[in-house]
Amino acid sequence: MYVPEPISKLIESFVRLPGIGPKSAQRLAMFVLRMEEEDVMDFAKALVRAKRDLRTCSVCGNITDQDPCYICSDSKRDRSTICVVQDTRDLMAMERTREFNGLYHVLHGAISPIEGIGPEQLKIPDLLRRLGDETVKELILATNPNIEGEATAMYLSKLVRSFGLKVTRIAHGLPVGGDLEYADEVTLTKALEGRREL
Ligand SMILES: [Zn+2]
Repeated sequence: MYVPEPISKLIESFVRLPGIGPKSAQRLAMFVLRMEEEDVMDFAKALVRAKRDLRTCSVCGNITDQDPCYICSDSKRDRSTICVVQDTRDLMAMERTREFNGLYHVLHGAISPIEGIGPEQLKIPDLLRRLGDETVKELILATNPNIEGEATAMYLSKLVRSFGLKVTRIAHGLPVGGDLEYADEVTLTKALEGRREL
């Protein structure tokens, strides 16, 4: 079957996105063809701008368009508590609860021997540097409640022992094996409130 090249290119681009199979990609491509030209331009610009203008915060690793990010540079946030998460999406989930007013540290992953991810691939040196500052009193380990997340929390709790901080782990009650980002606000708030000291 002959498919004009611009369409096959578009379909190929959609197929590369997570959760999009060939059928969905075809449907999306056809939808784009029916869109107003102005809307298509806005869509394309949004993609390019997101890629061009976003970077990771040099302090916490959050994705941001200003450095330090809006959380790190907000003087109203409690600088004595740092919540460690695996991913920016987990940070967003925590922010949605509106229950946490401290700072974050995004590891950009979790320790996973199976996937060949060791501590050296995570943003751990940056975290240790931040802990050297005596304003930090509590470190909340909010990595995911699965094997990798637990292993990472254990590793970090041992690693930071010499800093003499309060180190807590968010409570279970989160679905085991689930990702923080999919937890609803109530569950996440309860997990945060019920955190226990390690
Ligand atoms: Zn930041």
